[in-house]
Amino acid sequence: MAETLTNWAGNITYTPKELHRPHSLDALRALVAQSAKVRVLGSGHSFNQIAEPGGDGVLLSLTALGQEIDVDTAARTVRVGGGVRYAELARVVQRHGLALHNMASLPHISVAGSVATGTHGSGVGNGPLSAVVREVELVTADGETVTITRGEDRFDGAVTSLGALGVVTALTLDLEPDFEVEQYVFTELPLEGLDFESVAGSAYSVSLFTDWRGPGFGQVWLKRRTDQLPVDFPWAAPATEAMHPVPGMPAVNCTEQFGVPGPWHERLPHFRAEFTPSSGEELQSEYLVPRPYAVDALRSLDAIRDVIAPVLQICEVRTIAADTQWLSPAQGRDSVAFHFTWVADTELVLPVVRRVEAVLNPFGPRPHWGKVFAVPAEVVRGRYPRLEDFRALAVSLDPSAKFTNAFVREVLGD
Ligand SMILES: Cc1cc2nc3c(=O)[nH]c(=O)nc-3n(C[C@H](O)[C@H](O)[C@H](O)COP(=O)(O)OP(=O)(O)OC[C@H]3O[C@@H](n4cnc5c(N)ncnc54)[C@H](O)[C@@H]3O)c2cc1C
Repeated sequence: MAETLTNWAGNITYTPKELHRPHSLDALRALVAQSAKVRVLGSGHSFNQIAEPGGDGVLLSLTALGQEIDVDTAARTVRVGGGVRYAELARVVQRHGLALHNMASLPHISVAGSVATGTHGSGVGNGPLSAVVREVELVTADGETVTITRGEDRFDGAVTSLGALGVVTALTLDLEPDFEVEQYVFTELPLEGLDFESVAGSAYSVSLFTDWRGPGFGQVWLKRRTDQLPVDFPWAAPATEAMHPVPGMPAVNCTEQFGVPGPWHERLPHFRAEFTPSSGEELQSEYLVPRPYAVDALRSLDAIRDVIAPVLQICEVRTIAADTQWLSPAQGRDSVAFHFTWVADTELVLPVVRRVEAVLNPFGPRPHWGKVFAVPAEVVRGRYPRLEDFRALAVSLDPSAKFTNAFVREVLGD
């Protein structure tokens, strides 16, 4: 019987003609060269059809290739294979006395899949995870290897690429010296009178959580680098017990709190690497808007909280520094991101997603490429000033559109 393959959340079943897990780079090259339609599956943590090749296409998983993690301590860089996840990468990098600038909420996602979709953590000074990519190695449509390096004109299209340029077989990332982080949780921050800039800037990485059952934030998570200023957070009270972002959930899988210093990769994600959620009873959506609109956008969401709350598990508000990748949701805009973890019911969730999109519309939201959204493609296109440049790059690297699936075709338009 053919293998049934779903994404992590189980809301998408991939329907490729063939699924391949090549064991060598040569086998991968041959497969790409001889196939008419190809997509790569990373760790499958996206919530939409972005990885789906279509019924006539080939889906490639890189899990059987060597999981290269090659640290250059002198250059402070690491070369990472196309199937490597942050959990393994972070441990190796730290063993070399080095660090990544930031991490997403959990470390189980692949590096290539994350940077392809503009995945991010939080911090007013922290760009998305793609910001530290300095080189991309791609196997393109004819099976040849192309390397694109920071400084080349086309580099800003090559990282957050939605998987549309080729198979990413390796990425080289910038590292920095190892650092420690203390994590603090505060409770009950009111929306009324919120000084968003001060709150968001009060630590290296700040996340605000609300279930929208009331006007304000049940929790604020602060991740402070021990080489930066002490935490001064006068706006809310410190938590008295370890917390999970979703009210009522046990905190056992969450990273350590109460200001206990620890390595960056054990504090920057919210969830521990040793806890591997194999599937999730949830859907997710997220929208990035320019940070100056943060409070106005929060007020707009607050106005429909009775619509949001019934299908919401938790909403997280983060910040992302502007970056230069043409298709990055943070491209050219210091951003605030409104993330929603919904209940696992597409039919119930979609009408609410549309309401959220309608109230955020005046702020020009860019949806997270890997999450559930309903913003029409032509509207999304209008929010990316460099989209034409990306389209030209895709045509130059992949003239027969081998790596273009329905999702990408919709985004790029004709
Ligand atoms: C529990 C959970 C928590 C999350 N937390 C965050 C968060 O904190 N911040 C955030 O921004 N997002 C978050 N996300 C979203 C997630 O980071 C993105 O969906 C990301 O793309 C996941 O990477 P993946 O490898 O699993 O992607 P996949 O869904 O496997 O693939 C995503 C895209 O990348 C492409 N791709 C993957 N590998 C390659 C490759 N080697 N070559 C070419 N193309 C490739 C695929 O074709 C596809 O287009 C979360 C998702 C989940 C399920």
